[in-house]
Amino acid sequence: METLVTIERAIEIARQTAMIQTSESIPLSQAHNRILSQDLTSNVDDPPFDNSAMDGWAVRSSDHERVEISTTAAGSPPSKIGEGQATRIMTGAPIPHGADAIVLIEDGLHGKAHTNFIRHQGENLSKGTVALRAGQIMTPAAISLAATMGHATIPVRVKPRVAVISTGNELVTPGEELEAGSIYESNSYGLCALLEKIGCTPILQEVVVDSLDALRTTLDSLECDVILTSGGVSMGDFDYVRILMEEEGTIHFWKVAMRPGGPPLFGTWKGTPLFGLPGNPVSSHLVFTMIVAPWLSPEAPLGNNVRVLLKDTVKGAPGKVCLRRIQISSEAEQLVATTHTHQGSGNIHSMVAHNGVTLLPPDTSANPGDIIDALWFL
Ligand code: AMP
Ligand code: MG
Repeated sequence: METLVTIERAIEIARQTAMIQTSESIPLSQAHNRILSQDLTSNVDDPPFDNSAMDGWAVRSSDHERVEISTTAAGSPPSKIGEGQATRIMTGAPIPHGADAIVLIEDGLHGKAHTNFIRHQGENLSKGTVALRAGQIMTPAAISLAATMGHATIPVRVKPRVAVISTGNELVTPGEELEAGSIYESNSYGLCALLEKIGCTPILQEVVVDSLDALRTTLDSLECDVILTSGGVSMGDFDYVRILMEEEGTIHFWKVAMRPGGPPLFGTWKGTPLFGLPGNPVSSHLVFTMIVAPWLSPEAPLGNNVRVLLKDTVKGAPGKVCLRRIQISSEAEQLVATTHTHQGSGNIHSMVAHNGVTLLPPDTSANPGDIIDALWFL
């Protein structure tokens, strides 16, 4: 087991434990946000035939006099013209044999002939080209492209099933009465939403009390590909996730040099990969963003790395990368960042009031006017 590793090292260690990945075929109508599991080849040329990019007339560019002899609409088979002849043509209709240019409707039949308003067969894609690669996230545009290539179904990665378990005697489900010393359980809801966002299937479990037996029983009952726990991984006497993993599981790393989010662990429980996230709500969210998401779905990052001009002072952390919550916006051709709320790792409001975090190197604070690395949430 390694302790107090960098974020990069934590991802590297986790990647040494592979998750079993399988593939399934799904209809295109259900493909949004799924991850393509094999390269996709075009079944056709795009466009499949020469066609008009404009409404107007298909003509021969060498002609000076023209007579309209026919009309062709999108969906019609290609017609034919000879010298001095023109076909009235609609956008998307096949270019008649013999025509090599389009006159725009607004210019009239004897207007200028444009050869560039013909969209040539295969100019976007030729049949047999791989236009979507394995690992591609099926965005709306990727879905349209798969359809253009003639695919009714596509092979995608089966969504990993991820069990989400909150631990802690103090946790009460929202909607119930809070008793003295209790708080509402919030991590599992955010984590499930994050999992959905990166193309996984969350399996929400009941809160587990701080007890070795209760935790063991729950872990043994799971049917999932990956386990995420929150809480119980620090140095406290009741941090049973860490204690159980030390005694009966396998730990590959414990503690990451990041603040917030210092005490996470990664290992396996009877063969199933397990991330033990810290209990503080901001910590669990950010450890998921920085370490779990890149491991589970490298194709679907939760943020973009950017450089921002700071408007406020942000305090660094000794020996740790510091992820202060910042609001990033663009101002005069420059990304700028401000901070607005209390930065405590228990303050989940700071994640709503801001749209990114600083990536301040260890032992470094930054002042207004400094340009620093940051992660801008997607
Ligand atoms: P722990 O890591 O178990 O020591 O928890 C650290 C802090 O996070 C404590 O203040 C806990 O009450 C809080 N916490 C732990 N789990 C959750 C949760 N699921 N939802 C909200 N807060 C939590
Ligand atoms: Mg706890």
